Amino acid sequence: MTLSATNAPQSEPSPIDTSHVELKENRKDQSPLDSGSELQLGESPGVGMGRPLAHLWVDNISVQFDGFKALTDLTMTLDRGELRCIIGPNGAGKTTLMDCITGKTRPTAGNVYLVGEDREQKSLIELAEYEVAELGIGRKFQRPTVFQGHSVFENLELALATDRGVFHSLFASLSKSQREKIDQILETVGLSQRRDVRAGLLSHGEKQWLEIGMLLAQDPSILLVDEPIAGMTHQETERTAELLLGLAGKHTVVVVEHDMDFIRSIARTVTVLHQGKVLCEGSMDHCQNDPKVIEVYLGE
Ligand code: ADP
Ligand code: MG
Repeated sequence: MTLSATNAPQSEPSPIDTSHVELKENRKDQSPLDSGSELQLGESPGVGMGRPLAHLWVDNISVQFDGFKALTDLTMTLDRGELRCIIGPNGAGKTTLMDCITGKTRPTAGNVYLVGEDREQKSLIELAEYEVAELGIGRKFQRPTVFQGHSVFENLELALATDRGVFHSLFASLSKSQREKIDQILETVGLSQRRDVRAGLLSHGEKQWLEIGMLLAQDPSILLVDEPIAGMTHQETERTAELLLGLAGKHTVVVVEHDMDFIRSIARTVTVLHQGKVLCEGSMDHCQNDPKVIEVYLGE
């Protein structure tokens, strides 16, 4: 279901979040979370009562590499539990944005905040990558990095046990609740029947799902997934769409992807990046019909 701005029911948040637009004029000491501020969030279309809480706030970040601007004054707010698709031509800044969220790259200006359920904002930009991961932001890179020689189940066991040390974990016996958690993850990622298969023998798609499962073992509240369907068969692509849709709600999911058909099949809110800036944001319909977006994609 793709909502457009005009037919969004009252109880649903508008897919077009214009809060960042107003924010630019009212930057000082304000955030999209200040309900009583001059931002007047209630006046944005569909925003107000029932609007989900923000979960991640990318606040006006810029990234420069040797004078080259990879990102310029980029602001984006993710709602808790939403599925956000980030698209844009090669070089648009998608990976750099993920790098800034996960602590791999420090923005040269601006900030990134993780927003707690109590609305407390925690700045991420001073943190190391592992610290950001520990706060519940999990990232799946394009290339699967599973332990080929271990079974699907063991891979999940290893992922579950990061605090206890990787090598210790295989010899320690799992508690009942840990076993149940792994069973649950196997079911979520559709690998219950493949639990005893060595990861090296899985298909490309199955490896990707296993890696998503390994991320889930660490209970992330935000999942960032970079080009999940690259190299997948049509059937695997469909199952991946179902998986990501199923994860949204329980998790805030960000999907970076080139494939427009895939984005169309899962998209709720789409953010289109171009030359390090947000070119357009809203429903797939809204973005597809935006002349600026059409121009950029036709010009590719
Ligand atoms: P996307 O993922 O949308 O294809 P990227 O975020 O990878 O785009 O890159 C955005 C721009 O920043 C590109 O022009 C790229 O060449 C440049 N860039 C990315 N990383 C670096 C880096 N470490 N050093 C210099 N330039 C970089
Ligand atoms: Mg990229």
